[in-house]
Amino acid sequence: MPFDIIIVGAGLSGLVLAERFSSVLQKRVLVLEKRDHIGGNCFDYRDGNGILVHKYGPHLFHTSNQAVWEYLSKFTKWHQYEHKVLSSVDDKLVPLPFNLNTLYDLYDLREAEEIEGLLLNKYGYGARVSILQLRRESQPLLKELAEFIFNKFFVNYTTKQWGCRVEDISDEVIERVPVVLSRDDRYFDDIYQGIPTNGYTAMFKALASSPLITVKYGVDALTRLRLQGNKVLFDGRKFPGLIFFTGQIDSLFDYSDGELEYRSLQFVFEEHNKPSFQPVATVNYPNDYDFTRITEFKNILPAATSRTTIVKEFPQDYDRFDDMKNIPYYPVFTHKNKELFELYNRKLSNISNIVPVGRLAQYRYFDMDDAVANALLTFDQFRSA
Ligand SMILES: Cc1cc2nc3c(=O)[nH]c(=O)nc-3n(C[C@H](O)[C@H](O)[C@H](O)COP(=O)(O)OP(=O)(O)OC[C@H]3O[C@@H](n4cnc5c(N)ncnc54)[C@H](O)[C@@H]3O)c2cc1C
Repeated sequence: MPFDIIIVGAGLSGLVLAERFSSVLQKRVLVLEKRDHIGGNCFDYRDGNGILVHKYGPHLFHTSNQAVWEYLSKFTKWHQYEHKVLSSVDDKLVPLPFNLNTLYDLYDLREAEEIEGLLLNKYGYGARVSILQLRRESQPLLKELAEFIFNKFFVNYTTKQWGCRVEDISDEVIERVPVVLSRDDRYFDDIYQGIPTNGYTAMFKALASSPLITVKYGVDALTRLRLQGNKVLFDGRKFPGLIFFTGQIDSLFDYSDGELEYRSLQFVFEEHNKPSFQPVATVNYPNDYDFTRITEFKNILPAATSRTTIVKEFPQDYDRFDDMKNIPYYPVFTHKNKELFELYNRKLSNISNIVPVGRLAQYRYFDMDDAVANALLTFDQFRSA
């Protein structure tokens, strides 16, 4: 069948576009995916214990974007779930983000009361304060608290996660986890939070269910796309429609101006012959071990089994030539990488029939809701093209 639209990548970005073009405009869409499954990094499956595990690390859906929530809700029902994280600090498991409960867990009562008073007086109950802002405090007790939090919760975790000194990490990354001045132990404070009742993969299959959508797995689109002047050829010929590309932008140019850097991860799954491994879904280990965190999947979506499955995350450098390290997870936001991305992006904007979409092509950190919002916006921009 001839196609009107080609989409590279069957992740969230690619499939939202495929769904929109097929259902709203009745376009015939070809999706090319180099992996052997749908869903990109959000892919999940049931393991031998019947537990739904996330192959590429825990994915918790949370958003305050009503349009995104309503859009995805057409393709899944939701298991109500609000993510809780504990951090292992000074041999205690304490709530993360650091909040007033964490303060009382780690300080003696009198000192905690004094610090709470100072914090609430300055910022008010419920405020979410960046650790960098707290570190600029001149009041001695607050300054001491900020250094305590920074050293015990941020420094070693960040060093493990990014493989460099905390000083070399952009403020934007450090500020992702605030200090919360309330007793709210939830990791996210978004209005809508949940896990697809039958998992992400089922939701993706529903997104791609139109007979107008054809998904081909195990196809590296780069073997079929070729740049020629200001056009991209498909199978050696001019393709009359649009091509949406959700892969790595530098790969499209065969890395001609250099490689964009990423952090990768190794996920080590373990099955345990006991009903429960830890009290919450995720426990962070900032100061011990080579892994950053352990997630127990039963605590995200309950499963009727007396066994349990966990995953440990070992951060590592990305290397496209090494099968153990060749999945690009997190863009590394250095000045050099930002400039290199801009260079590729400028080059791509001169090519008239291809549009970069998603976390790899736009070299951004997108949460799932950002990826959906971005794909919906892209559809609106190109629906009449
Ligand atoms: C460890 C981890 C945990 C996360 N946890 C959360 C979370 O808890 N909550 C949250 O909201 N977000 C989370 N995210 C973010 C979430 O994974 C992304 O928002 C989402 O995956 C973005 O979708 P995408 O389609 O843009 O990219 P991807 O999911 O990466 O999809 C891109 C697809 O394109 C395919 N592809 C690439 N190149 C080619 C090619 N040449 N040919 C064919 N196919 C190609 C890839 O195989 C992939 O399937 C997490 C991310 C990571 C890394």
